[in-house]
Amino acid sequence: MPYMRQSQLFTKTERNTPKDEATVNAQLLARAGFVSKLMAGVYSYLPLGLRVLNNIENIVREEMDAVGGQEISMPMIHPKSIWATTGGWNKIDVLFKVKSRTEKDYALGQSEEEVVTPLVMKYVNTYKDLPKAVYQINWKFRDELRSKSGLLRGVEFLMKDMYSFHESQEDFERFYAVMKMAYLRVYERMGLVAKVTEASGGAFTQKVSYEFMVLTDAGEDDILYCTACDFCVNVEIAKEKEGERCTRCEKGTLAKARASEVGNVFDLGQKFAKDFDVTYTDKDGKKQYPIMGCFGIGISRAMGVIVEKYNDERGIIWPELVAPFAVHLLALGGADGEKIYDSLQKEGVQVLYDDREISAGEKFAEADLIGIPWRIVVSPKLDGKVEIKKRTEKEAQIVDIKEVLHIIKK
Ligand SMILES: [Zn+2]
Repeated sequence: MPYMRQSQLFTKTERNTPKDEATVNAQLLARAGFVSKLMAGVYSYLPLGLRVLNNIENIVREEMDAVGGQEISMPMIHPKSIWATTGGWNKIDVLFKVKSRTEKDYALGQSEEEVVTPLVMKYVNTYKDLPKAVYQINWKFRDELRSKSGLLRGVEFLMKDMYSFHESQEDFERFYAVMKMAYLRVYERMGLVAKVTEASGGAFTQKVSYEFMVLTDAGEDDILYCTACDFCVNVEIAKEKEGERCTRCEKGTLAKARASEVGNVFDLGQKFAKDFDVTYTDKDGKKQYPIMGCFGIGISRAMGVIVEKYNDERGIIWPELVAPFAVHLLALGGADGEKIYDSLQKEGVQVLYDDREISAGEKFAEADLIGIPWRIVVSPKLDGKVEIKKRTEKEAQIVDIKEVLHIIKK
C-alpha cells in the first residue's frame, strides 16, 4: 500500500529505549516500530520496516538487472555433502548447522557458491555460454556467538548475492569494474557514500577482496583513506600508517576512520569450479574451469547502517529513496485532513496519515522518531493553509494546499 492511516497501523512507538539493545540502529528501529526482536540477531520486520527493506531491495534489484544480472532464488537449506565438497563444513566457523530427526546434517545458506556453481555450470557448455551473472535476494544465516549490533550483524539477514562466471581473469576484472560502478550507484541512491577498500580474501582465497565501506562510528572495521584521492585500505592488511603521505596520489595524507561494511566482492578464481569439477569447452575444444566472482550486498545490514548514519536526538532521518513514506500528514486539533490525504494519494505521493485523536505534542514526537522526509500539518489554527517541513530542517513554511505538491516534487 502506498498510503496508510496511522489509526489502522498495528504497531505503536515506544517512548523508552529498549534495555536489551546496545546500538543506535536497533534502539531507534525498535522504538519507532520498524522491527521487533525475536532473539539476538533475529528480527521481525513490521509494516514500516518492511517498506524500507523493500525499497532498498528494489534499488539493488534495478542496478543488478541493469548490468545484466539474472535473478533466481536458491534454497536456504543445503545438504552437508556440498559443504563437505568445498571444505566449508569444517572451515567456516559461522556456518549454521542443523541436524534432522533422522540425524542427517544440513547447513543453512550464508553464501551460496556450493549451490550456484553446479547449478549454473549445468547450462554452460562452451565458451559461447560465458560470461554469465546470476543473483538472488534471500535470507541468510550465520551462527554468531555475539550478535549485539542490531541489524548490522544478524544471525538471520537479508542479502543480495551475485555470482559471475568468466572465461578469463581479464573478463572478471572487466566485470568487476562494471559492478563497482553499479555498487556505488546503489549506495548513492540509499543516501550513503561508500569507499572501496582492499581487504584479505577470507577463508578460501589468497587473493584480495574488495569491501565497500561507509564511514560511521558504529562500524566494526578501521580503514585508512586518502584525504585527496579514492585510495582506501582496511587497517588489517594496510602497510601504510595514519598520517603518512598517500603514495598513490602524492598529495593527500592517510586518515583513519571507523567504518561499516555494506558490500563485498570476492575473486573466487577456479576454486569452486575445481571442487565440483565443472568445466566448459574453450575455443580449442579443451575442458576449462571458469573463473568466478561473488558480489554481496547486505540489504538488512544497509538498513541498519542508514539509521546509524542518519539520526538525531529525536529519531531517525530517512533518506528519501528508502523512506517508508514520502509524507507524514498530521491532522491536529480535530482538523480534517481527508481532502489533502486524498489528493496526495491521487498524485501518487506515498503518505502516512496520522488521523488519531492524540495531542499535537505526541504526534510531533512520533513523526520525528519515525523520520519520514516531509511532514505536513493541517490544523484549525492555519486558516485553511498547511504547514510543511522537512525532517532535516528546523523551520516550517506555511503554504497554500495547492503549493504542497510543487514543493515536494521539487
Ligand atoms: Zn591519495
